[in-house]
Amino acid sequence: MRVAIVGAGAAGMMCAATILENNPETELFLLEKNDSLGKKVIISGGGRCNVTTGVEDIKIALSKYPRGKKFLISALHRFSPAAVRAWFEEHGIPLKCEKDLRVFPVSDDGKDIVNVFTKIFVHSGVQVLTKHNVKSITRQGKEFFVMCQNQPPLTVDRVVLALGGQAYRHTGSTGDGYTLAESLGHHITELAPSLHSFITKEKWPRALSGVSFIKANISADCPKPNTFTGAFLFTHTGISGPAVFALSSLTAFQNFGPAKPLAIFIDFVPEITMDRFIITLQQLLQANPKKSFKNILQHFVPLSLSEIICQEVGIPIEKKNAEITRQEVQKTGEWVKHLPLHAVARGAGDEFVTAGGVELSQVDPRTMESKLCPGLYLAGEILNVDGFTGGFNLQASWATGRVAGESIAQTRV
Ligand SMILES: Cc1cc2nc3c(=O)[nH]c(=O)nc-3n(C[C@H](O)[C@H](O)[C@H](O)COP(=O)(O)OP(=O)(O)OC[C@H]3O[C@@H](n4cnc5c(N)ncnc54)[C@H](O)[C@@H]3O)c2cc1C
Repeated sequence: MRVAIVGAGAAGMMCAATILENNPETELFLLEKNDSLGKKVIISGGGRCNVTTGVEDIKIALSKYPRGKKFLISALHRFSPAAVRAWFEEHGIPLKCEKDLRVFPVSDDGKDIVNVFTKIFVHSGVQVLTKHNVKSITRQGKEFFVMCQNQPPLTVDRVVLALGGQAYRHTGSTGDGYTLAESLGHHITELAPSLHSFITKEKWPRALSGVSFIKANISADCPKPNTFTGAFLFTHTGISGPAVFALSSLTAFQNFGPAKPLAIFIDFVPEITMDRFIITLQQLLQANPKKSFKNILQHFVPLSLSEIICQEVGIPIEKKNAEITRQEVQKTGEWVKHLPLHAVARGAGDEFVTAGGVELSQVDPRTMESKLCPGLYLAGEILNVDGFTGGFNLQASWATGRVAGESIAQTRV
């Protein structure tokens, strides 16, 4: 059996390794348009590669996928986060699980993850064809003809589309997979960036660029009110960080812009209620009548933010605590626990994944084979599956790549 896997990213590499494990007789071609494998895997997790999640309960893990959770049930049971960890460790890469349940190689080097595959492929008969830019795929009878730029056509019995989405296009994932899947009869759902920063109408975040918070609550005024707790930071154009990425994931298909901004609210002290905040602030004011208000606010937020809050609430920054009115305390509470911001745009090109993709009803979730085009398999981000940050996107790619590989290895021509 001759199999062409198009795209040597997370899903394609795992699919190839799985076919080799299960059916080493397969004549396997791994086609990649870059000159090397797994470019995006290497830069993922800031170069450390957050390879999967430490969340072992599959139900909880599935809840981290705003799109595709039902489709992934079978794949995540077959190749769970724990199984992914075991697989890499068995292949010589020790992993560590951090406090926030993100799993990384102990070396903190994404290249080690890709090297696992490079080693597997070197000692196998797989033909790794880099600099092979697949331009079209046609099917005649039971055979597929894979056409690459400036290369002779390849005739195979099975094809796997693992070309990724269209985020971070310089890594090679430029959306070609959608065109190829469409040409073979599939529907591509609406596409949108996900896991990105927001640009705010307010300009003051620029003055706080780089100021980060370990834990804040972020909510948005969208059809389903959504709140996320997690790390967060101000940037030179707005806001970013894991809690913001989660919000971006749920608002991926929401229309907003300068004329219709998305209202976002931040609670910097989520562990206490508004009433408790007001009482605590009043107690601090009474205990420190001669101190300036902005210094007292530092009990709750960094000095740079307390200055902005004073400015926005209209309190002179050196105003003494004894002179602060009840109304000013109340207004401050609203800013610390419900700080309003208005997103006018998504961070341009900084999204981690593409939401949307190949319509899931057209793919068998137990095999990853197309229901419309027998012999064609799809795996990874090309599918209408995307998750939150924390290793869930790579997990989906490993798992769907694994399932596609196991299914192909079981078939005969
Ligand atoms: C900056 C960044 C950081 C990330 N960090 C994490 C993280 O830490 N943890 C996590 O879980 N997820 C992370 N993600 C998301 C995760 O990397 C992706 O979801 C995952 O890599 C998708 O895997 P894939 O195999 O489907 O596609 P990709 O990894 O994108 O691979 C697709 C491959 O197909 C090739 N290709 C495309 N078109 C063609 C063509 N026409 N011919 C031949 N080859 C082609 C591409 O060159 C590419 O190598 C991150 C994403 C980004 C952008």
